[in-house]
Amino acid sequence: MAFDPVEFASEFSIFAYYEQGDNPLRYLDNAATAQIPDCVVTAMADHDRHYRSNVKRGIHRLAEEANEAFEQARTTAAHYLGVSNDREIVFTSGATAGINLVAHSLGHTLKPGDEILLSVLEHHSNLVPWQMVRERQGITLRFLPMTSEGMVDQSRYDEYLTGKTRLVAITHGSNVTGAITDTVRIIRAAHDRDIPVLLDGAQVAPSGPLDLPKLGADFYVFSSHKVYGPNGIGILWGREEYLNTMPPVFGGGEMIRDVALNETSYADPPHRFEAGTPPITQAVGLAHALDWLQRFDLTGMRDHLTSLTRRIMVGLETIGRDGHAIRILGPPRSEKRLSLVAFSIHDIHPHDICQVMSDLYNVALRGGHHCAQPLHRQYGLDGSTRASLAGYNTHNDIDVFLEGLAHCIDILG
Ligand code: PMP
Repeated sequence: MAFDPVEFASEFSIFAYYEQGDNPLRYLDNAATAQIPDCVVTAMADHDRHYRSNVKRGIHRLAEEANEAFEQARTTAAHYLGVSNDREIVFTSGATAGINLVAHSLGHTLKPGDEILLSVLEHHSNLVPWQMVRERQGITLRFLPMTSEGMVDQSRYDEYLTGKTRLVAITHGSNVTGAITDTVRIIRAAHDRDIPVLLDGAQVAPSGPLDLPKLGADFYVFSSHKVYGPNGIGILWGREEYLNTMPPVFGGGEMIRDVALNETSYADPPHRFEAGTPPITQAVGLAHALDWLQRFDLTGMRDHLTSLTRRIMVGLETIGRDGHAIRILGPPRSEKRLSLVAFSIHDIHPHDICQVMSDLYNVALRGGHHCAQPLHRQYGLDGSTRASLAGYNTHNDIDVFLEGLAHCIDILG
């Protein structure tokens, strides 16, 4: 069946809850967190009502049911990523935790002078953990620059890969410029030198199932709350051959093989990286969200979102032609983008735009540096305003946003 955003939206009672007469909620802050459909909330509540127990240890019916649901969620996440080996799926608390896990685990093995290659587009989640490793281990961080279109600049990529590069960790899609990274060369050239590649998939995973074997990366992270699932959970996928060699970062229950007072041996991955009670209910919710999402025509959803993105860009350009200095960050063509558009308006603070748009139009936007301060500095900006889309957004949402923005500029400009 063709993708229908209104039908999609009907699965989320939050929109009915916030309806304000003829001024309904226009939620355009999906790159921060997407809304959660009722069926996912119900699935989690049902789990807690009927199967609540700890996992990995109990020998009673509830524990077995909970464990089965938890491990089934792992399988569902693996399928979503196109991988068949569940042992490569580590439950984390989100994309940030996944990157920290890799950074701090690999960090133990790094020596002064070793290099990690990042880009200037990275979210703080894929920057600060590496800075922490740099402080601890004396490694060097190198940064691929950005093109004028807001993409990772690969023109001199080969020069950035040196005999000392230990990992390339790059965004799969920027939460500010919306640029989708062309990973083919990044991965091929790194692998030619036996360097693993981590992709930050936080903004790409919501578009639909991935084919990680085809993509060819070695580590991939995403967060559930951007994929219509609950918060507090995310996935780190890592190739088994890497995970097997990596030391744990957190110690505690469930990650061990044997513990003596002076010595501990660790469980195999993924349990080695999942110390303590994991987010069980959230795992059930995430799996339900992934299954639910795949019931829709996702090619149709992506086409719909590309068309909305184009509408935003054309609309912003029109407002710009009316004499307001609007600068759109990122690729000028909507086909090369994720469904998000960040922009700046000369002399108007993004927070003011967001406030007025929320108060007068019930439009939810995001203003600020979006956890990407170095990227904004590349543009000479402190921050930007961002509209980011999800399957429930309609052309009407965009029209209200553009009309409101023009008015907002009149008030604030
Ligand atoms: N990377 C990117 C590109 C993101 O957009 C985000 C979330 N804004 C993250 C990482 C971090 O995700 P989380 O806060 O869910 O860990």
